[in-house]
Amino acid sequence: MIRKTAAVWAGKATGTLSRVTKRGGGTTLPGDVARAIDPKILTRLTEDLTEGSAVITGTNGKTTTARLVTWLLEGVGQRVVSNRAGANLIFGVTAAALSKAGADGRLKADWGVFEIDEASLPKAVLEIQPKATLVLNLFRDQLDRYGELESIAKKIEKALSGLPAAAHVVLNADDPRVAEIGLSLPNPPLWFGLDDTRVASKELPHAADARTCPRCGSSLVFDAVYVGHDGVYNCPNHDFTRPAPDVTATDITLNGFESLALTIGGTRIEMPLGGLYNCYNVLAAYATACSLGLDAAYIAERLRTFKAAFGRQERIEFRGRELILVLSKNPAGFNETVRTAVELAGGTNFVLGLNDRKADGTDVSWIWDVDFEQLKDTARVVIPAGNRAHDLAVRLKYAVIGAEPPQTDPGKVLDLLVKRTSEGDTVHVLCTYTAMLDLRAELVRRGWAHPYWET
Ligand SMILES: [Zn+2]
Repeated sequence: MIRKTAAVWAGKATGTLSRVTKRGGGTTLPGDVARAIDPKILTRLTEDLTEGSAVITGTNGKTTTARLVTWLLEGVGQRVVSNRAGANLIFGVTAAALSKAGADGRLKADWGVFEIDEASLPKAVLEIQPKATLVLNLFRDQLDRYGELESIAKKIEKALSGLPAAAHVVLNADDPRVAEIGLSLPNPPLWFGLDDTRVASKELPHAADARTCPRCGSSLVFDAVYVGHDGVYNCPNHDFTRPAPDVTATDITLNGFESLALTIGGTRIEMPLGGLYNCYNVLAAYATACSLGLDAAYIAERLRTFKAAFGRQERIEFRGRELILVLSKNPAGFNETVRTAVELAGGTNFVLGLNDRKADGTDVSWIWDVDFEQLKDTARVVIPAGNRAHDLAVRLKYAVIGAEPPQTDPGKVLDLLVKRTSEGDTVHVLCTYTAMLDLRAELVRRGWAHPYWET
């Protein structure tokens, strides 16, 4: 107990100090310090939670889904501790828990809702012993960050197998890699999946990276493709098929990046979130909240009032143009945001931003897996931006898209945008993480955006 209190104090002091000196924003450093003093600090802190924890992993959608689950719990008066987007390694989760700990060293909250990087999930499950674990999807992220999908899936499977029978595991039946994890667990998981072939496509995009059967290696046959490699599939050798979902979303209506509507459990839910990928996030949050004991009618009602995570999709007016900012950080994510912008939002003007800093992934070869060809006949203005704008320009050239000259300076991106578009135009700004931060910083400097992105 003394050790725990010492770890909490040291961690909190480090957080204050790093905020004062503006080093690291105070996000994860307190976690490092506290864990050095007491390696079991995260377990000890999460044991203080009056109800328990939910951990959420997946390549795409974890921030939005974690916010949805938090929103649902807070709506019934629960005190929730959650980590900030980007701080989703074990140190970031520890730092979040520390931030809500009192002077007595005890964590003062009812629930922990933590978004966790796929590779860190096994450690998080072991230390947190969550009441619910949600796996959204497993797409190939930046090439240099993790090992192969298969090895991560195996580690997640092992971690989930060790949970007690009372712990809930909530899995995406539409993702072949996630399905393989669930089919091997000792206790059956809660499966969720989309069920509306009208919004599906027939073909896998280039970026689909789990097109083979995890059992025999044959090419899977898809009856419907929703997002990336997520859809309705089976193996022609009859050894692997999509598990039947326990919770489904039907009658899906998509309205660009503006909103979506879907029916879950017989109830119509409308949300101020756009894109088919967000249908998965809403459905996953719904299933997770049900597994935590929330009432289905309450969940549907509360979801309607959710506000989109700031910056994941943000609208900014800039000199009479409407900028729609959407984070697009890997092939599957980029394919979906481009598709939503082109097919559902009728987008014709684009800024595509690519950086190669640590948070973006230093290897940018993944852009060759993005179907920029979707822009070919519809895009009027395409500006390649970011410190790797030149790589993007080459990629766009191969997609036969007449793009503007690449711009590495955010100020010049905005100047060119003004020159090439008119007042009243809408511009879709699709960027990797730090490329988005850079552009936003320039918009803030010019007085067109609020300085706070992730709040
Ligand atoms: Zn097979």
